[in-house]
Parts: sequence; structure tokens; C-alpha cells
Amino acid sequence: MSLDEIRPSLPLSDVSSRSSSSCGTAVPDSAAPDAASALSPPSRPPLPHAPRQPAETVVTTGPLPGSRRTWLLGADTDGELRVPMREVVLSTGDSVVLYDTSGPYTDPTVNIDVRRGLAPLRAPWIDARGDTETSVGGGVGVGGRAEGENGAGVRTDGDNGAPLETVNGQVGAIGGRQVRRGARALDRGALTQLGYARRGEITREMEFVGVREGLPAETVRAEIAAGRAVLPANVNHPESEPMAIGRAFLVKINANLGNSAVTSSIAEEVEKMVWATRWGADTVMDLSTGADIHRTREWILRNSPVPVGTVPIYEALEQVGGRPEELTWAAYRDAVIRQCEQGVDYMTVHAGVLARYVPLTARRRTGIVSRGGAILAAWCRAHQQENFLYTHFEELCEILAAYDVTFSLGDGLRPGSVSDANDEAQLAELATLGELTQVAWRHDVQVMVEGPGHVPLHLVEENVRLQRELCHDAPFYTLGPLTTDIAPGYDHITSAIGAAVIGWHGTAMLCYVTPKEHLGLPDRDDVKAGVIAYKIAAHAADLAKGHPGARAWDDALSDARFAFRWADQFHLALDPETARAFHDETLPAPAAKSAHFCSMCGPHFCSMRLSQQVRSDSGEPAPTGPGLVQAAPRS
Ligand code: SF4
Repeated sequence: MSLDEIRPSLPLSDVSSRSSSSCGTAVPDSAAPDAASALSPPSRPPLPHAPRQPAETVVTTGPLPGSRRTWLLGADTDGELRVPMREVVLSTGDSVVLYDTSGPYTDPTVNIDVRRGLAPLRAPWIDARGDTETSVGGGVGVGGRAEGENGAGVRTDGDNGAPLETVNGQVGAIGGRQVRRGARALDRGALTQLGYARRGEITREMEFVGVREGLPAETVRAEIAAGRAVLPANVNHPESEPMAIGRAFLVKINANLGNSAVTSSIAEEVEKMVWATRWGADTVMDLSTGADIHRTREWILRNSPVPVGTVPIYEALEQVGGRPEELTWAAYRDAVIRQCEQGVDYMTVHAGVLARYVPLTARRRTGIVSRGGAILAAWCRAHQQENFLYTHFEELCEILAAYDVTFSLGDGLRPGSVSDANDEAQLAELATLGELTQVAWRHDVQVMVEGPGHVPLHLVEENVRLQRELCHDAPFYTLGPLTTDIAPGYDHITSAIGAAVIGWHGTAMLCYVTPKEHLGLPDRDDVKAGVIAYKIAAHAADLAKGHPGARAWDDALSDARFAFRWADQFHLALDPETARAFHDETLPAPAAKSAHFCSMCGPHFCSMRLSQQVRSDSGEPAPTGPGLVQAAPRS
């Protein structure tokens, strides 16, 4: 084949327009598994008079190019436990099976209707345990009535007072809004995954995680029981697929969503959630601060296959007109209960921002940069009192225990610049978070601890060491960290560098940063850029930690690259569409997809082609394919 045969026949501008991705209608190279429908979780019945789905609620569906959804079966459950994975089918006939966060959206056999929400995968497991009751009074026994509750088992949405029906305790879908009645614990001991684990019980959720991660279920239970891992799984979010966050597991990533008072709509935020999980987000946080805060969260929860986190103080602040000094424990508690009943899986709680720590930030270069931290610092100063989240922490534990909501103990005093990294304020708060971790554990409430922020590379390892010492090995969940402050517009890169290193040293989950950090609300493209950057960081950390399953993915891609199996290389990529589009930019012809060179070096200088020739001349055998490789989960 000559270079002319595969040279682009179109101007580059035409090529790029023709190669633009169309992920919403992507067609897999292989058929979906026949057993897919039989393996689906219980579905919700269609609601009578369900409104037609308007265009603005259509979300991205369909598998990634070259992938299909497949299932691993639980070993001890007679095939009842089916764990969805992503299978990349190679041209050699081999398969690579990868951890999959995308939920049913990449399964072409599932009819997606965001107005009905996802099927409640975990509902039968929760019901079978028999330790929940349906709350009709808005947090009965743990803090009184939630706002929006009209006392007749029919709730209003809190935004406009319009009635929202419930149907047999399940999600209703009336007028484009959804709500479900809240379940909570009966008084039979904590229903948290930590409580079960400490009592020696292996739940279906733990089994699910074990299958997905390639670990024994007993290991999952033991890590949770020791507090070294969390399995965020509110009983009111049965749509979620179980996952674990801890040092012993694959490094996870979180993507932040949420509208603000300035821009973005509910439909956009739901699509961002679907989009983020499509590319690999293990959890999402709804950080909405504008109007429709309650309704936005409801839509995200009912459609999210991954755990959802929030920062309840944002909603509490909305309830008091945005004035921090007007905040009360009661307003905060009611916001927490509302969110518990909706199904939020983990909550950032800035209980470690103590009044005496606030003056420590006065000499900082960038002061307090956490929204929650700044709100509580303002409250403490206005009232000359201790942070009400700290003084009411035991009550908060009782509430979260009733729904199995996980604490994400917030770092309200995290550094906002490398100049402030590891300073006295940050470390004082960290010590308090360690104290609160033990309080939560006494209530069987799961805990992870949040960390910075902005940290130069040489201080990253110390952050992990101090967190482990002070917080008793509770999982660490860090924002980045950004390793330099000089690149606004590229902070997904400045922070992914720090994320890879802090993940390598033991951080369990990495909160993504997008290119818009410090500059504006991220859009869909920014979300993808942030997620991909953080998937790279998390995977690099898994490789550095020596996870053999992680390495198998790299090896499969390297084999495809060296063998010039271009389609396999694209399909194994974190972002198959971009990989193919870049190749198409200069070599779009079908014949180029088997050529033994690309446009980077050209045919005469292709080192891999020359290397293959050397290998062939010396009589060395060609590399063999991977067979069936379970790549991301550890073996
Ligand atoms: S031309 Fe260069 S970049 Fe392209 S495949 Fe060969 S060695 Fe790799």
C-alpha cells in the first residue's frame, strides 16, 4: 500500500466535520448480549398518562464504539446477582472486560425514559432485609417534618407547592417532576452497610462490589467494617449500582454537577450526569445553588446509576434567603432530612470548621476558598458561637444512620493556593475531622474525609500520611489537588497531575476539576475533559499501586498498537471517539485503519514497523492476544 492510497482526499475542514462524534447513536461493532433483557433489574410499570418525553429531556444513550454491556455473575447466588461491565470485543476474537459506570444508558435493550427514572435495582435487596419503614411524616423521629410535606402522604416539591403524587411508594412522574416516599430505618440496629459489616453480614451490595472489583465479598465486608472503605447507598436511592471507595479498591473519581443562579437548566444537569458516568465518573455531586435546587436533585437521583453526593448547607442557605447569619441548626437539619428522603448517598458536612480555626486563615494568601467553609466561618463570626454542625454532630449522625447516608467530612479550610498548602488551619481542621470520624463510627455511620485543594507535588505525600494518622484510615477524598496555580483554563491538567500522585499514595477517590475551574460553570465538553483527565489520573494511580487488572488494560492496548490493529486501539481507548477522530484527521481512508504507520512519523520512519521487521528477521514469535481479560478489576 502506498502513502497516496491512504492520504486524505478531503480538505481537513471537511474531514473534521465528517468525523465529529455522534455518541448518542453510536452503533457497536458487536451485537448486544442476547441475555441482556433477562438480566435486567426489575422495571417500573409505565405510569398512566405519562407525558411524552420532550426533546430537552433526551439524554445520551448507546454503547461506546466497539463496546457492549456484559454481565458477570455472582458466584454464590445461583446467577441471581448480575453485575454489569463493559466488554471491548477485539478483532482477534479476544475480549477485554472493564469496570463500567455508565448504567443502563449504554445498554441498547433498555428503554430510557428520564421521566420515569431508572429501574430500582436494589429495591428487592432493601425490602428483603426488612429493616426499613416508609416515612410519611418527613423524618419522623429524627428531626420532625420536612418542608413541603402536607401531612397526607402527598408531598409538594418545595419549589412551587404543586402536588406531586406517589404511586405505590415508587417514583411518580407527573408534570415532568418526580418524587418518591422516603424509607428509613426501623429500630433494629443501624441499617448502614457499616452496621451490617460490623455484625458480620455480607450484603448484596457488598457481593456486587466484590464481583465488580474482582475481590472476595468478605474482603469488601472487612474493609467496610474497619472503616477503611465506604459503600454509599442510601435506601432511598435503589437505582444506584453499588460501588466502594477505599484504599483496597480501584481509585474512584467524582464529577461535580449542579446549576447556579446564573446559568444551566435541570435537563442540562441530568444530561451532564449521564454524560459524566458514560465517560467513567464513579459518583456525581449535585452542587446546585440556584432555583429549583430540590427538583434538580430529584431528577438527577431518579436517573443516576451511581451514588449522588450533595452539600446540604447550600440548600439550607437558599431557605434563609442566602444570608449565612440567618442559618440555624433546624434549617440545616430539615434540608438534610429532605435530602436523605430523596436518596442522596453522601453529604459533605463542614463540621470541622471550628470558630477558633477561622482566625488562622487571616494571614493566608487566598483565605477560605470552600463555599461551605466560608458560609460557616461567617456564621461563627456573626454569632460568636461554635459551628452548629460541630455542636449538633451526634444528632446529624442519628439522621444519617436512619437512611445509610455516608459522611463526606468537608475540608472547609482547605488551601486555595499552593502558598497556603499544609498550613495550620488546614491541619487543625483535619485533626477535628479525625475526631468526628470516630463519633460517626460510634453510630455505625460510614465516613470518608475530604482533602485539598492546591498542593505542590512535594507536599502531596505528606497530606496522605497525615490524613491516615489523624483520621484513622478512613477513606481520603481529595479535590485534585492542583499542583500549580499558573494555568487557569487548564486546571484539569494541573490537578490531574496531583490527583495521580495522591491516588498513588492511597487516596481513595478523586474529585475532578474541569478546564473551567476558577473561571465559570463547566458545560458538557468541560465535564468530559475533566472526567477523562481524572480517569487517566486514577488509572495511573492503580498502575503505580500494582493492580494487576489495571495493567492488563494497558497491555491489551499496547498489543493492539504494536500490531497496527487501529480499530482495537480506538475501542480500547478511554475516549474511542476522539482517538478515531484524530486518526481520521489525516488518514481517513478505510485502508489506513490497517496501515503499518500513521501520519506522525510516516511510512519510512515508523519505528514500530521497523521494530516488527527486526523481530520478523530474527525469527522471534509475534506477541499473542490477551484472551478474555478482566482488565480494570483486580484479579
Ligand atoms: S508512524 Fe510513528 S506514531 Fe505512527 S504508528 Fe508508527 S511509530 Fe507509532
